[in-house]
Amino acid sequence: IVKEAVTNPNATAHVNSETASGESQTLEFQAETRKLLDIVAKSLYTDKEVFVRELVSNASDALEKARQLQNSGQTLTDPEVPFEIKLYADRSNLTLTIQDTGIGMTKEELIGNLGNIGHSGSLDFVQKMKTEGKSADEIIGQFGVGFYSVFMVSDDVTVFSKSATEGSKGYCWRSDGTGRYSISEAEGVTRGTKIILKLNNNNTEFAIRDGIERILKKYSNFVGFPIHLNTKQI
Ligand code: ADP
Ligand code: MG
Repeated sequence: IVKEAVTNPNATAHVNSETASGESQTLEFQAETRKLLDIVAKSLYTDKEVFVRELVSNASDALEKARQLQNSGQTLTDPEVPFEIKLYADRSNLTLTIQDTGIGMTKEELIGNLGNIGHSGSLDFVQKMKTEGKSADEIIGQFGVGFYSVFMVSDDVTVFSKSATEGSKGYCWRSDGTGRYSISEAEGVTRGTKIILKLNNNNTEFAIRDGIERILKKYSNFVGFPIHLNTKQI
């Protein structure tokens, strides 16, 4: 870990060396996406902790895709960076950070994948399940709205991402989970994706390391990549 911190200070979830640079562009979530987001973020109060499972599952998917790309003979961006997931629960800043060194996202992918979530028809199903009193756990994940579960606990979500495709630039995506998000170029981004959740006042418990460890053990036992929490492998 120490060696990696020296050779690649950015590849670590507890050091925020990424910085947004250049012009910031503000975009709107698609109308249907926005309604889905509202339901997921604002009206599902039980099982909030499942957002951790969703983030780890996305990180694992992204690493799997990077591994496949590498196995197909492609040279990845930052090839020296190992495939892994790092979380950092920061009690003093009330943030939870999750970083993977997977496939990452280009600017277009950030817009298309995070601004446009939900399979077609998801909104109707989600509305119906909500009316039937189904829990977040049952709803999230079923409809491809996993990422939006972060807005159950945060209204300030920052995503730094750099695609594994060689020559990619880093980007910063940021949203409060209402109608809009912003995108700008960013410096100091390592291959993959780093998501920083500034936890809102009701959800500061997710900044506590031991609680996150418990959730990880509950949901993320079968992830095929190393998971580190606050610099210790779990
Ligand atoms: P799903 O995982 O079911 O596709 P999500 O809402 O969890 O739905 O994520 C939406 C999309 O955002 C993913 O399909 C993927 O393209 C992209 N994405 C989310 N997290 C990551 C990540 N850590 N790395 C790369 N892409 C990601
Ligand atoms: Mg997902």
